[in-house]
Amino acid sequence: MRVGLYPGTFDPITLGHIDIIRRGCALVDRLVIGVAINREKGPLFDLEERLAMINEESRLLNLKTGIEIVVHPFENLLIDCARDVGASIILRGLRAVADFEYEYQMVGMNRQLDSSIETVFLMAEAHHQAISSKLVKEICGLGGDVSKFVTPAVNLALKAKLNN
Ligand code: ADP
Repeated sequence: MRVGLYPGTFDPITLGHIDIIRRGCALVDRLVIGVAINREKGPLFDLEERLAMINEESRLLNLKTGIEIVVHPFENLLIDCARDVGASIILRGLRAVADFEYEYQMVGMNRQLDSSIETVFLMAEAHHQAISSKLVKEICGLGGDVSKFVTPAVNLALKAKLNN
């Protein structure tokens, strides 16, 4: 049984994340979406709201792929979270070169903490690659249309939260 952990903040989940989750489903028997609680990062959506949005998308992806998708909040070290959920691989999405340096360091450190856990990088479809939760929030906050970047349910939640 191959278990993969896909960690992130998902504030909120975007079509970029969903693209990576769908690709990850082709590689594992069970996919755990690790939701970083990240209180200090001051997320727009609280943990319960993020979990509800991720759960809904996971349910639909499970129907499409047949792969079991579990949503798991975590606050501890990523490598400990991977051990807790029995994951042998960590899945990460790579967007631009900008992501690379940080990810490179993370892999280097995590490998020294536990060399049995492999990190696998996936790239989204070209039209999903530029999407980031941060920019989606900024665009929506300024009244822009984010329907190409998030699902209709997340779009509604963003509008409600950002009052536009
Ligand atoms: P963000 O950086 O948008 O706030 P997260 O911290 O939730 O997103 O990211 C979780 C993981 O998903 C990271 O590995 C990140 O690189 C990846 N990711 C996010 N958006 C995309 C995208 N559009 N394409 C590929 N990977 C992505």
